[in-house]
Amino acid sequence: MPTAIVVGTGAGGAAVAKELQGSFDVLILEAGREFRPLSLDLRLPERLKKLGLLFDERGIRLLFPSMRIQKTREGMVLVRGIGTGGTTTLATGNALRCDRGLKAIGIDLDVEFAELDREIPISIAHQRLWNETTQRLFSVFQEMALEPRPLPKMRRNESCRNCGRCVLGCPSGAKWDSREFLHAALDRGARLITNCPVRAVVFKNGRAAGVAAGHGPRRRFYPADVVVLAAGGLGTPVILRSSGIPFDPALFVDPVLCVAAPWDNALQQREISMPFAVQREGYILSPYFDYLSYFFNRQWTSGAGNIISLMIKLADARSGTVSGRKVVKALTHEDTRTLKAAADVCVDILGRMGIRKSDMFFGTLNAGHPGGMLPLTSEDAKTLRPSRLPENLFLADATLLPESLGNPPILTIMALAKRVGKIIRRDFSD
Ligand SMILES: Cc1cc2nc3c(=O)[nH]c(=O)nc-3n(C[C@H](O)[C@H](O)[C@H](O)COP(=O)(O)OP(=O)(O)OC[C@H]3O[C@@H](n4cnc5c(N)ncnc54)[C@H](O)[C@@H]3O)c2cc1C
Ligand code: SF4
Repeated sequence: MPTAIVVGTGAGGAAVAKELQGSFDVLILEAGREFRPLSLDLRLPERLKKLGLLFDERGIRLLFPSMRIQKTREGMVLVRGIGTGGTTTLATGNALRCDRGLKAIGIDLDVEFAELDREIPISIAHQRLWNETTQRLFSVFQEMALEPRPLPKMRRNESCRNCGRCVLGCPSGAKWDSREFLHAALDRGARLITNCPVRAVVFKNGRAAGVAAGHGPRRRFYPADVVVLAAGGLGTPVILRSSGIPFDPALFVDPVLCVAAPWDNALQQREISMPFAVQREGYILSPYFDYLSYFFNRQWTSGAGNIISLMIKLADARSGTVSGRKVVKALTHEDTRTLKAAADVCVDILGRMGIRKSDMFFGTLNAGHPGGMLPLTSEDAKTLRPSRLPENLFLADATLLPESLGNPPILTIMALAKRVGKIIRRDFSD
């Protein structure tokens, strides 16, 4: 059987590994270790913050090793998961189909979305569990004719404790994340090596011959007939660069900014994260307890239960790049204008809740949906392989997305990764 190497176990990596195993002998190389949720209750970070010991978001990995933070040169906080399950382990579980940009270049993933619908427990049956704050916000959104809609969630409602800690890793296993696809691939015989960062693709006669991976003296060459990179929107460009493959300075990240205020017994930290959302031109709005701002932002001083917060998630311009460990990503003039317009809507919403503008404060500008550095074009619609890659080297993550979604991308990345897997099976299996 031919060998396939899959790099990364997040949304794209796990989906493509599951698709390939059986037709290929799949070896999965993962930079991080096995994911573990943050088990601490909030009192420890609260105490550390009071002591002034939580001052830089990058320090979160000391408490929560799978959550990794980089700061852009401009100060934006970029969040990702390094470990089994990738960033899906930190997700709030939203499952939206966002393939407008892919359709526009001739890629129709109806079949793959239908498969995902059957494979993943997705439900909007959580409205009955909403607390008073969420219900009140929902009514205000409705009064303002913003047309809020409950968000479909990848989770098993029967085992969900509604604890509000989805972004810290689900303690009960109720939330679906890509480790379920990873385990399906492993059950069928795929092999996984963790703590094994891939450094570069190795080429021979114009084809990918395998990858160089591992730490220090343990670095070695892993041969393969096909290589699939799915190290995420920030990880894959680093591997491409060290493999001598150029990419576009077209990074998008879907920046997030929260507008918040003190609010007694808001209890959003114990509420389903992002219970509903509103789709607007260029951004979405959703109630969201922002743990990172709560841990690290000095303006967030009220107790966790006494903050009300609304998230703006922006569909940003494709402008930015990854250079070694550095990420360059500035908001464009248009991004800033849209963000300001969205913040005004949030101020209006909180104002209607009876909150004075002078009491409101912002969260830290952060982002967790990086992608777009080697996007698919209409010429790649059949192969799903950007033409500058050799014929046996594929990508299967957010790097391929042609535009910022400004929306949860997991489902769309997995649909794309499944199709990539099918194409590889068709063209390369025995
Ligand atoms: C707090 C938060 C909440 C979110 N909530 C949602 C949500 O509700 N719904 C939604 O759709 N999206 C959500 N997202 C975004 C979503 O999780 C990501 O966009 C998605 O997981 C990206 O998939 P990917 O396959 O591109 O990369 P990832 O899922 O990040 O996977 C990349 C994988 O590659 C590994 N890796 C990296 N470098 C290397 C290397 N050199 N060698 C080997 N392995 C490597 C990583 O460890 C990881 O396993 C959220 C993001 C954040 C930060
Ligand atoms: S609310 Fe809590 S129990 Fe429910 S899916 Fe999220 S983390 Fe898991």
